[in-house]
Amino acid sequence: MAGRNFLFVPGPTNVPDRILRAMDRAMEDHRSSAFPALASGLLRDLKSVFKTTAGQPFIFPATGTGGWEAALVNTLSPGDRVLAPRYGQFSHLWIDLAQRHGLRVDIIDVDWGEGAPVERIEEILTADTQHEVKGVLIVHNETATGVTSDLAAVRRAMDAARHPALLYVDGVSSIGAIDFRMDEWKVDLAITGSQKGLMLPPGLGLVCASPRALAAGNQAKCPRVFFDFGDMSKANATGYFPYTPSLPLLHGLRESLAMLFEEGLDNVFARHRRLADGVRAAVRAWGLKLCARAPKWHSDTVSAILVPDGFNAADVIDVAFRRYNLALGAGLARVAGKLFRIGHLGDLNELMLLGAIAGTEMAMRDVGIKVTLGAGVAAAAEHYRGSAAPLPPRAVAAPSADAQPQPQPPGGKPGSLASRAAVRA
Ligand SMILES: *Cc1c(COP(=O)(O)O)cnc(C)c1O
Repeated sequence: MAGRNFLFVPGPTNVPDRILRAMDRAMEDHRSSAFPALASGLLRDLKSVFKTTAGQPFIFPATGTGGWEAALVNTLSPGDRVLAPRYGQFSHLWIDLAQRHGLRVDIIDVDWGEGAPVERIEEILTADTQHEVKGVLIVHNETATGVTSDLAAVRRAMDAARHPALLYVDGVSSIGAIDFRMDEWKVDLAITGSQKGLMLPPGLGLVCASPRALAAGNQAKCPRVFFDFGDMSKANATGYFPYTPSLPLLHGLRESLAMLFEEGLDNVFARHRRLADGVRAAVRAWGLKLCARAPKWHSDTVSAILVPDGFNAADVIDVAFRRYNLALGAGLARVAGKLFRIGHLGDLNELMLLGAIAGTEMAMRDVGIKVTLGAGVAAAAEHYRGSAAPLPPRAVAAPSADAQPQPQPPGGKPGSLASRAAVRA
């Protein structure tokens, strides 16, 4: 099929050309004296993405699911109790993983479309006077329903209960795209994967552990080998890994971090908010509803859009893919067929989103959903125009390296409007 595939699933996300090129290289000796420069730099710079100074990042050749496992097995023992709200397929799967490791999970079932219930968490922890609960597991951004939870409020609830449980956060579809503050929110284990906000192919599970989490490791009896923080720490201290790391992904991560830092993390978050607001304006213009029940739950990285009764969201996804080469995310488990998802995270801009919105409304019309063609595109376009940043200056040709310093042109600094007018005149 000619033209680009429009990849709008909430992970894997579009990999920028810069990152593809950075990964396109010959393999090298991961035990060479040159290697630690790469590994140590990554481990140092990842801290900024987690917003931590005290935390220690770990890079596993795995995925987000491996990150879930690493966080639990390095800090807990079989039979330990953990508290976990469940409000979508990802919180469900993490709970399942914990149970299969022999942990006792106190599940708080929450309607899909809402997020972490902070009052319930505070009540349960306050009642746990013996401090049997060792951890609280929160999915920051529930990718299945497009719901973001208030982590600062979860931390306040834990502090109000004066409870020492560790705070485990799945940030797989938030970190690098939605504000995340490990130190400020006293998160003990933060987890992400390479293929979402970090704009890389799948294949890395990234975990950041607080000093309290690392200390908990001394008592933790869950069996662990591949994911052992101790082995990893020892090798990482000298800039190496205990086994063969994913070399291309590490070079890709180097470039991904460079891109995030060039744009500035806060600008990255603001871009995601603005792109998401445009998608939400389109959904309103279509007369449809998000799965997220209230604006406070709205996710800036994925919108889960409910189709009207009598329609199957899987048909929208199928037509979008086969006819328009547009990949939308499916409804998972309980919401299968009821919703489709537009992922809006990673390497994206306004016009890419407008293309996805156009393809979505065409596919909806094709399956018989009554939306006005162009309505969503128009609403999003108005939002993007209305919220656009001031026009960036035109690029000015850089002087060649051996050029003599140029005399200041009359009428102001080089490149200023006054100087351009003077040059023209
Ligand atoms: C994608 C995702 C995962 C799973 O990650 P994998 O890389 O597929 O193992 C876990 N949690 C959330 C919130 C996700 O979005």
